[in-house]
Amino acid sequence: AAKSTGRNRYCTFDKALGNRLKMRRDSERDLLPALKNRALEIWYQPIFKCGGRQLGSIEALVRWNHPRHGWIAPPDIVVAATLAGQSERFFCFVVEESCAMIARLRALGMEDVTVAMNVSPREMAQLPVDRLILERLELAGLPPTSLEIEVTEETAVDLRAVAGKLAALSDAGVRIAIDDFGAGYSSLATLRHLRADRLKVDRSLVTGLATSPEDRLLLQAIVSLGQALNIELVAEGVESADDVLALQTLGFDAMQGFHLGRPGPADRIIEQFGPQSGGAG
Ligand code: C2E
Ligand code: MG
Ligand code: MG
Ligand code: MG
Repeated sequence: AAKSTGRNRYCTFDKALGNRLKMRRDSERDLLPALKNRALEIWYQPIFKCGGRQLGSIEALVRWNHPRHGWIAPPDIVVAATLAGQSERFFCFVVEESCAMIARLRALGMEDVTVAMNVSPREMAQLPVDRLILERLELAGLPPTSLEIEVTEETAVDLRAVAGKLAALSDAGVRIAIDDFGAGYSSLATLRHLRADRLKVDRSLVTGLATSPEDRLLLQAIVSLGQALNIELVAEGVESADDVLALQTLGFDAMQGFHLGRPGPADRIIEQFGPQSGGAG
């Protein structure tokens, strides 16, 4: 069963294999209805600029509370969409919700806050993501610079399939962030090929960094790399005030994590971090 807090708040897959298969089948079957009746939703998590507690951007994170299985982990939702033959529809849902959030922020006078959406390597390779994103931005009358996409290094594995799309998005002004940087095989070539504007350093390197000299050295090297290439550095998984201090000292540009703000529904995030809120905290 799903726990309600912490890392294990999602339905766990480690029960019997039978359960796991049933969950997979059920989520495949129920995905399209869930998309249609809005049981699938997008939550948002704030990303703050370093130095102050100024909101810089907001990450869109999919959520699905399945009536039988509880909260499904987002990567499993993406898999369910594929199994259900609904990848494009799912992807468009995320783009449209992100556009709606951008429009809401702009209506509140927060036009310098961007919205970041995740694009999986498979979505990137198999869907016409550039066209789908740019069409919807135009339809909504929003500048491409108000949207950011987060891709992982794995995206570069199928570079032939994605280079043109990334170039089209980047040329139009959509910002590109490399997500989970440092979690896998990181190379300088990846950064160049993926046209990265920002690096989101994986939380495995960030959480508890204040007490780990090795992590601090690694992060120092990543910061130097980012600065040399003129790429913004974002830390994810900031879980304590000590993490914040250490990251500020290292020279990070932005931070995201449970210590600064948890993901929540659009209304709650706007209430907490919008213009009337007086900022974070
Ligand atoms: P991600 O893009 O790296 O997103 C950050 C994840 O870390 C989120 O998990 C977020 O809730 C969690 N997180 C944020 N701050 C902290 C912290 O301080 N401590 C800890 N322990 N965790 C923190 P979530 O929402 O479960 O999403 C997991 C992954 O699923 C995402 O990782 C992203 O790769 C993928 N994902 C989420 N939404 C979408 C979507 O709409 N489309 C696609 N394709 N993938 C998505
Ligand atoms: Mg992300
Ligand atoms: Mg990440
Ligand atoms: Mg991650």
